[in-house]
Amino acid sequence: MTQVLEPATEEALAEVAPAGVEETDAAVARAKAAFPAWRAVQPGDRAALLRRLADAIDGARERLATLEARNVGKPISDARGEMGMVVDSFRYYAGAPERPTGDTIPVAGGVAMTFREPLGVVGLIVPWNFPLTIASWKLAPALAAGNTVVLKPAELTPLTALEFERIALEAGIPEGVVNVVVGAGRVVGQRLVEHPDVAKIAFTGSTEVGRGIAEGAAATIKRVTLELGGKSANVVFADADLEQAAASAPMAVFANAGQDCCARSRILVERSAVDRFMDALEEAVEALRVGDPLEEETEMGPLISAAQREKVASYVGEDAPVAIRGSAPDGKGYWFPPTVLCPVSNDDRAAREEIFGPVASVIPFRDEAEAIRVANDTIYGLSGSIWTRDGARALRVARAIESGVLSVNSNTSVRVATPFGGFKQSGYGRELGPHALDHYTEVKSVYYATGS
Ligand code: NAP
Ligand code: MG
Repeated sequence: MTQVLEPATEEALAEVAPAGVEETDAAVARAKAAFPAWRAVQPGDRAALLRRLADAIDGARERLATLEARNVGKPISDARGEMGMVVDSFRYYAGAPERPTGDTIPVAGGVAMTFREPLGVVGLIVPWNFPLTIASWKLAPALAAGNTVVLKPAELTPLTALEFERIALEAGIPEGVVNVVVGAGRVVGQRLVEHPDVAKIAFTGSTEVGRGIAEGAAATIKRVTLELGGKSANVVFADADLEQAAASAPMAVFANAGQDCCARSRILVERSAVDRFMDALEEAVEALRVGDPLEEETEMGPLISAAQREKVASYVGEDAPVAIRGSAPDGKGYWFPPTVLCPVSNDDRAAREEIFGPVASVIPFRDEAEAIRVANDTIYGLSGSIWTRDGARALRVARAIESGVLSVNSNTSVRVATPFGGFKQSGYGRELGPHALDHYTEVKSVYYATGS
């Protein structure tokens, strides 16, 4: 048995039995056996089942939110919001079985038509930062499209996935359609990647592990979608509403204690506005309430683990000066204070690597061209923001930044109805929105000879 820890207290929250290769193979076999019947469920019936599942999750929302808050160390108010998004993901995709689209293409001697067919068994591998939320972005479109799934949560945070498996069964999803296997990435994850009966891997996590998954999947020509790391830019022009930009910048990095692939951890500020921006930022960072994840008022909790804290600490005091340091509780728990480095050069390690902790780098820039160049000078391309009152510039810069998801005068990234995913080494494929369904289906073209 391995202990599942509560990062705010360092106490054990639960014990789980990690699976090995045999259990993984058994889960794949169950999913494979369940596939023919699940794909044959009539569209309206599959939609109704997914709506029932959404309602069941909604009913368990508070319990799931508390479990997620305790296991990840995230503020309970955030966890509640995330469970709302889990429900919304299932509601959004529940209608998909009734809205399949295909083409009819007149060709010589007959007509061709296209179908979107499910893939079969899909392996879902998810990280510890938004455990059930990120799983739901994969589960909902995968199931709606008629696939069966094997979900591997991160070893650090398996509890809401296990709850989900129970809830799905209770809601009437047939046995074998949803299978959760708890265990190490190198064992369970790797086996899913290698398994000849798994048609696709949908992965969220580090770029390093993602690269290994793409390599491993090549052996069986498995379909792969990858949501990887980020080092996103929050570009603040001097003509922006600086108050608003500075007020929202902290949570664009420090939400989920910075353990967010969308974290806008490089704050690019036009030189002439740096002093005014930093004054407002300091006020906002110092006002952040860091503490017990289960307190209603808490805005930032601890990091996931001692190892993560050690990694994050290694970026502070290296190249750039610490300009702002917020508060963090003493004693037990993997706490780290929200920290702003300024001025940072885009060549510093803090600006190049995904820190995955509450450390922001402020990088001054001269003009629009330099802002775009610096924003793009990274191996990543996941999210980002642009703050300006000049609408034409906002669109110009948005088109120029190499990133999958951008916001203008806002620091939010993720919506159920809009595609989410990366450029460059932030991955490939898109989750959420209508595009996700393409990644859980194969296009089939059928030619019907009509004799003329
Ligand atoms: P990770 O190592 O990429 O893990 C993500 C998932 O992949 C986990 O379920 C993990 O399992 C599994 N995994 C690990 N090795 C595997 C392998 N060889 N084959 C198949 N699956 C494997 O990420 P992490 O350890 O959670 O975090 C490390 C760093 O990744 C972070 O510091 C951050 O920079 C980045 N990260 C990015 C995101 C994102 O949303 N883009 C999310 C999380 C982390 P186990 O952990 O159970 O072994
Ligand atoms: Mg890892």
